[in-house]
Parts: sequence; structure tokens; C-alpha cells
Amino acid sequence: MPELPEVETIRLALEPHVVGRTFERVRIDDSRLVRPFEPLAVSAELEGEQVAALDRRGKYLIVRFESGRVLLIHLRMTGSLRHAPGGELGEDPHRRAVVKLDDGSDVAYRDVRRFGTWHLLEPHEVDDYLARRLGGEPLERAFTAKRLGERLANRRTPLKAALLDQRTVAGLGNIYVDEALWRAQLHPLREAGTLDSDELARLTKAIRAALRAGIARQGASLRDYSQPDGRRGRAQERFRVYGRAGEPCSRCGTPIDKIRAGGRGTWYCPNCQRYAETRK
Ligand SMILES: [Zn+2]
Repeated sequence: MPELPEVETIRLALEPHVVGRTFERVRIDDSRLVRPFEPLAVSAELEGEQVAALDRRGKYLIVRFESGRVLLIHLRMTGSLRHAPGGELGEDPHRRAVVKLDDGSDVAYRDVRRFGTWHLLEPHEVDDYLARRLGGEPLERAFTAKRLGERLANRRTPLKAALLDQRTVAGLGNIYVDEALWRAQLHPLREAGTLDSDELARLTKAIRAALRAGIARQGASLRDYSQPDGRRGRAQERFRVYGRAGEPCSRCGTPIDKIRAGGRGTWYCPNCQRYAETRK
């Protein structure tokens, strides 16, 4: 948390407010956000940069500047961004940074657990930095069953763990992996490398559908996530399995079960998502 749908929701909401604007003043109050660099040094580097585009890769928010440099923001567990007209930000003990834009508005970064990061990269560093950490973008055309199959081939880890690995597919986390596996009717503990082509096709479609459902409802607000205007997301109201232990499966009525998989609490339907090895 937040995962791809939450980061994409933030991107869509912030884009019209920041593209073309200049970072006039930057205040970074938490050295953990930018370490190993000094907050004052990073602020000084950021001031005067003009935003060319706001992109996303996996769970990273990518602020691209006209200079070619990039600010990579990762929200980790509890990071969130708020956009407000000048002077309208209230007090917030968990605020870690504020960017004042040249139209007088503020972009504030809040993070309760303080695991989030701001990384300023030089133009030549960006592609390599992301390529080493991330697999394909699941909502792009290039994400196919064949590609996913290549990423999962010969892997003996449980499907759940393989999909949490950002190098398999970028942007999935605990929530949307469970939702996608329910849609694909696959058991979270299935050995990742054993899926046949039919199952891979189902999983590819299911990942897209689960993520699109999250974006359509502006992300999931379980704890700290909210949209840049302060409103909560509503994706949690439509979860099929995540957090629903004991409730009836919306497909078959069997109570949803909770187990541990990939080191994480995992929800699934024991009837729809049978553990069955495919014999090839
Ligand atoms: Zn079911």
C-alpha cells in the first residue's frame, strides 16, 4: 500500500496542477526522505526546476523536469501527496516536505511510517535505475500472457510471492495480487512456474482487470492513502477477497479464507481457487 492504482490516481490528479509549473521553494523536513543526501542540498537542487511531465512506472511517481533530471517518488507504506492552494494547508505532524509552485499553490508530502523516498536522478541514471528494479507495466500493450509466462518460467516460489516481486510485473502489492488471483481462479500457493498457457492468459487478464477496477474507484483507502484533494478512494468497497475472511465469495458463496503466502496475509476462495498442479 499504495499500489499501482493508488499511485496512478495520484498522478492523474496532480498532473494538471504541476506540469509546466516551477518548483519555487522546497522544504524537506525529514532527512530519511532523501538520504544519503542532505535535505538542504536536495531542496537547493530542486528549486528552479520546471516540471515537463508527471509519469508513473510501477509504484514510482516520476516527476520529469525540463532539465532532463527526474524526481522519483516512492510512497512505500504510508506516503501520500496533497495539492492545495497557497495558505490552505493545515497543521500536520506527519508532513515531511512541501513544494511551493510558481502559481502559489503547495504540494505537500505526508508519511506516517516514514519509509517513503524522494530520489533526484540525473538524466543518464533514470532508465537504468528503473529497469533494474521493475518488470513490465501491466496496463501497457506489451504485457502479454507470453511475457508473463517468461517471467514466471522455472520459478518454484508460490505465485503470490512471484507476483509481489516487482521484477515480475511492476506495480502489484498485497491487495491487487489477491484480487487478481481470485479473478484468475488460481491458488496463491501454486508453484509459479507450473501455469499452463490457459492459466497464464487468465492471470494476465485478471491482473489488468483488478488494477483497472482499483483505478476506476480512485484507489483503496484502508489506512493512510487519500487522493491529492484529500478525498478517500473507494476501491476497498468492491474488494472480492482482500480483507474479507469469513465473508461469502461473490462467485460461489464459499467463505473466504485467510492464509499466509509470500510472507503476507493472503485472502482467497478455497472453492474457486483450488490448488491443482497442471500436468504437462
Ligand atoms: Zn468462490
